[in-house]
Amino acid sequence: MTIAQPRHLLDGSHRRMFIGGAWVEAASGQTMETRNPANGVVIATVPRAGKKDIERAVAAARNAFDGPWSRFKPHERQKLLLRIAELFERHWEEICVSDTTDMGLPIARARGNANRVLGMLRYYAGMATALHGQTIDNSLPGDIVSYTRKEPIGVVGAIIPWNAPTAASVWKIGPALATGCTVVLKPSEEAPLTPLLIAELMAEAGVPDGVVNIVTGTGTEAGAPLAEHMGVDKIVFTGSTATGQSIVRASAGNLKRVSLELGGKSPVIVCTDADLERAVPVAAMSVFANSGQICIAGSRLFVARQIHDEFVARLAAYAAGLRIGNGIDPETEIGPLISPRQLQRVEGYLRAGSEEGARLVVGGTRLSQGALAAGNFVAPTVFAGVSDTMRIAREEIFGPVISALPFDTLDEVVRRANDTPYGLAAGVFTRDLATAHQLSRRLQAGSVWVNTYHAIDPAVPFGGYKMSGYGREGGTDHLDEYLNTKGVFIRID
Ligand code: NAD
Repeated sequence: MTIAQPRHLLDGSHRRMFIGGAWVEAASGQTMETRNPANGVVIATVPRAGKKDIERAVAAARNAFDGPWSRFKPHERQKLLLRIAELFERHWEEICVSDTTDMGLPIARARGNANRVLGMLRYYAGMATALHGQTIDNSLPGDIVSYTRKEPIGVVGAIIPWNAPTAASVWKIGPALATGCTVVLKPSEEAPLTPLLIAELMAEAGVPDGVVNIVTGTGTEAGAPLAEHMGVDKIVFTGSTATGQSIVRASAGNLKRVSLELGGKSPVIVCTDADLERAVPVAAMSVFANSGQICIAGSRLFVARQIHDEFVARLAAYAAGLRIGNGIDPETEIGPLISPRQLQRVEGYLRAGSEEGARLVVGGTRLSQGALAAGNFVAPTVFAGVSDTMRIAREEIFGPVISALPFDTLDEVVRRANDTPYGLAAGVFTRDLATAHQLSRRLQAGSVWVNTYHAIDPAVPFGGYKMSGYGREGGTDHLDEYLNTKGVFIRID
């Protein structure tokens, strides 16, 4: 295959999308811009795909699924994944610069994600040769041998948000390659560039034409036709709960399988015996990292009343000391929000917090001094005196905003922590083992972290309870999302 795509220049030049092993334009010829959120500069234009392009990509994915890809042995898929991991490692700096420039992630943080992303690819490589069914003794009359087979589900439509383009792409494409599925991935219109770079690396690694397709476009013009498409066997989606609901509705046509990683309003509980030296920075960065644009943000901070004031004061000092700026500066700890629209949304919550009577402890404003004026920067913010019914305590903000809420007893805090439609994650800080186990059991969340936060392991399932979605990413559960189980009965008497 020839790679007729210039390397990532991030200088405003045009890039094409990747369908059937070729770099192509949208059928309509339309394009859209993507900007650097740190300074508003247009860094590239990409095709603005529509229904026809989704048709073309699904057809390419189907041909590949039925064609040579179906004859790849597990060990060949494993080798491919290991080669992809190697190329990712070699081009990691390029991937980091792409994420930083397209979605604002501080480069130091992007660089720090290397082990996690490479670990995912190598985990899937390992799993490619570990997929198997079972033989099952049964009580049927006659002599019948029964066994199960695990078969790839087919063409997978993957739809991802802007906040972690590299990890989200790998989390969707990696298991597809491990199981023998093919993929049509639609990145967020806010951050489409790194998935295109990833497609380049995958092609270079030898992924056959049509196995991985990247279609750039908006949610309504490209995402919705993908979700509805009768030729798609499964949708794997990460994004907001509202979009997740529309994807479930769109899936009804062919009853395609769906797995959903959605929003959250995760509680972090700091008990009286917590190690504050550890708890303060971890609780702060559970939200401020990625400027709060993290689905697992621990944005409801429940602090035992005896230590509440001290904790909030320390948290505010920590927040005030964070270095904010263009993520391309390696000293930057907090980058911009993705877009002016997201900035407006977060500013709306900052106003709502004050209007509803919360006490602003630190931050609370857009930052517009000097070079920051051209970007979408918000100061890391802590509100105290928050009640459970305020909007800032109930709705997902997706910005650097923590609501601190005092509590008195464990029973009370469990009830309040679980009083949310979401159930993605929870954090607990305590030195008491029994408290750690009790809270881990009682909190309704797909992940519970004790004396840490954000730990993600490719071998450990991640996903939501309640309206944070269903299905799991990570671990063997993840591979099962891409497989059908077939029961086979053979009469041998
Ligand atoms: P979003 O739901 O607006 O968009 C996500 C993706 O869906 C984008 O690619 C978008 O173009 C597409 N889309 C939009 N409308 C669509 C439609 N009708 N049909 C099909 N596709 C459509 O989410 P966002 O604003 O990009 O991301 C933020 C949200 O994602 C937050 O709610 C956050 O919590 C969630 N998120 C969840 C996880 C997780 O793992 N649980 C991880 C990251 C982000």
